[in-house]
Amino acid sequence: MSRLLLIFIGAPGSGKGTQSDLLAEKLAWPVISTGELLRWHLHHQTDLGKQAKKYMDAGKLVPDKVVEDLVAHRLAKPDTKHGVIFDGFPRDAKQLAKLLTWLKKNDQLYIIEIKVPDKEIINRLVGRRVCDCGASYHLVYKPSRKAGICDLCGKALYLREDDRPKVIRDRLKAYKNTAKPLLTYGAENAKLLAFDGKQPIKVIKAEIWQAIKKLLK
Ligand SMILES: [Zn+2]
Repeated sequence: MSRLLLIFIGAPGSGKGTQSDLLAEKLAWPVISTGELLRWHLHHQTDLGKQAKKYMDAGKLVPDKVVEDLVAHRLAKPDTKHGVIFDGFPRDAKQLAKLLTWLKKNDQLYIIEIKVPDKEIINRLVGRRVCDCGASYHLVYKPSRKAGICDLCGKALYLREDDRPKVIRDRLKAYKNTAKPLLTYGAENAKLLAFDGKQPIKVIKAEIWQAIKKLLK
């Protein structure tokens, strides 16, 4: 029986997070999120948590080596035996190369790409309006009942700094840099599954499921 390691990629606003959550829920597989792992180790004051804390206390980024150890440690746990979904890892070619060295004989790594054209991403994000209470709306796809006002708490809605067109373009560029080595790996090894992210969530979910079902043997 093989173990599937799935890496979802997609631009901000592509719906990648939604789809990876839906699949993880359906399969009851763990999601390996570097952010969550880090919080867990910090909270439980493990050796890795203490190592990470040294850097964080000094105002530095947690180095790759520590992040990689967190992931390797998580991947060795028995609940990953059928498969896992990665979130936030690998972030670049170096981390991907590291991950490939950990693969065991029966492991299969697949890249799942949710493709949405840049223009559509920009439309989706600039239309987003948020409220301090956590509610989120969209001018076109999910408007509030009263323009500019939160349905839940009545406060004024606003455009996040991150969703301004100039910032979105930078985020798209950053995404493409991150995605490139993963797409290359997937394409060269026939491990790339691409889905049209312009479709409704339910349709994409069903297509992903059809593709993954074939790999579960
Ligand atoms: Zn609100």
